[in-house]
Order: sequence, then structure tokens, then C-alpha cells
Amino acid sequence: MNPLIAILLLSFVGSVAGLVGGVVFLLKKEWARTLCKYAVPFAAGVLLSVSLLHLLPEAVHLIGEPAYFIVLIALLFSFFFEQYFAHLHHHEGHKHVTIKASAPLVVFGDTIHNFIDGVAIASAYLVDPYFGLVVTLSTFLHETPHEIGDFGVLMSAGWSRGKTFMANLLSATATFPGALLVYFYLRNAHDKIGILLAISAGIFLYLGASDFLPEVGEEEKGVSTWKKLSLLVIGILLMYFLSVISPAH
Ligand SMILES: [Zn+2]
Repeated sequence: MNPLIAILLLSFVGSVAGLVGGVVFLLKKEWARTLCKYAVPFAAGVLLSVSLLHLLPEAVHLIGEPAYFIVLIALLFSFFFEQYFAHLHHHEGHKHVTIKASAPLVVFGDTIHNFIDGVAIASAYLVDPYFGLVVTLSTFLHETPHEIGDFGVLMSAGWSRGKTFMANLLSATATFPGALLVYFYLRNAHDKIGILLAISAGIFLYLGASDFLPEVGEEEKGVSTWKKLSLLVIGILLMYFLSVISPAH
């Protein structure tokens, strides 16, 4: 397949298709709540392991040991960014949802996040199409519960269903310029792609550890902790399995 078309297709799966979580929320809040309970621990496992088992090793392969330092910087920068723009990620069913940010800021932070998802997808694809597919899968899997949270936050801020959907749809399209930028400007710059993969590893690691993982430990009605821990482990095993069967290694 033409790499440009493949990258656009994968970006679509990683971003716009991830809106399915938000659509479920619009249709039936109860379903969305249940979906989230299972999807968040699973996504936590997927995010942590796509970062440490896929993105980081590939970055180290491309640029060597400086990759570790870049991961550290990206992790710290994610922390400062989130402090500054307030808590940008909320998941429905979260007990301590504190809406520090105004709704437009939530959309803004999300747009930047989606842009970076596009950068990660295209960078991975240019290294190896299989790798691009794995990163896309992990993006889709974390976007689904993430969008449920975003829809919940915006609607509780008084936004209508239509406005909430349109804002998130527009925000999701930020994945395309992220991917296109990498495709057109960095296609043959393997060292720069290595840097971008290390940055993505740091951001995904932060997201998994500080945003998704804490929710796994919280007590919730209807889902036992061992069930959530099992889903976390299944998410990790899935990503581990995908790294073992990778044709590149
Ligand atoms: Zn994302």
C-alpha cells in the first residue's frame, strides 16, 4: 500500500475511530461507564508497555543511549504541561474528578495530545509498517476510554451533545497534520524519527503511569480490583506478544 495512504488510514483509526467511546457516551451513559471500567485498566497496561516494549527500544535502536534522556525530559515536560493546563484527562466513573480547567482548555490539551499521537503513528510506520500498526492499535485503545472522559467533562460543563461531538471530532483531526508533518519532512531523517519515538515513549509512559494507572487502584462498584489487575496484565501481555512476533526482530 502507498505509505502516505497507509499513514492517513492508521491516523484515522487512531483518532477519529477512537471517538466511538464518546459516541457510546452520547447514546447511553451507563454503557459508557461500564466500558470505561474495563477499558481504563486495559489501556493502562497497553500504554505502559507500548512505551517500554516498543517505542523506547526502537528509539534506542535508532539514536542510541540519548533516547533514555529524551524519555525523561518528555515525561517531565508532560507533567509540567498537565500542571499548567490543569488536569486534562478525566474518565467517567472517576471519583475525584476535579474540573480545574475550563472546557476549551480541555479541548486544546486534547488537540495537542492528538497531534502527538499522529507524530507517533507516522514515525513508527516509517520505521516499519508493523510497528506503525502496533502504535495505532495502542492509540485506538487509549483514545476510546479517553474520549468517554472528555465527552463527560464537556457535557457536565454545559456543552450540548452536538457541540461536544463536533469539538472532539475537530480535535481528533489534529492527528493528521502530526502524521503528515513527519511523513513529508522527516521521512528519511532516521535520527529525528528516533527522537520523536523517544518523546512519544515519554509521553505515553507519563499518560499510562499518572493518568490511567491510578484509576486501576481505585475501588469501584461492580468491578473487583483483581478483575482490573487482570485486565492490566492482559494489556501488557498483548503488547508483549506483539513485540515477540514483530517481524523486525
Ligand atoms: Zn491519544
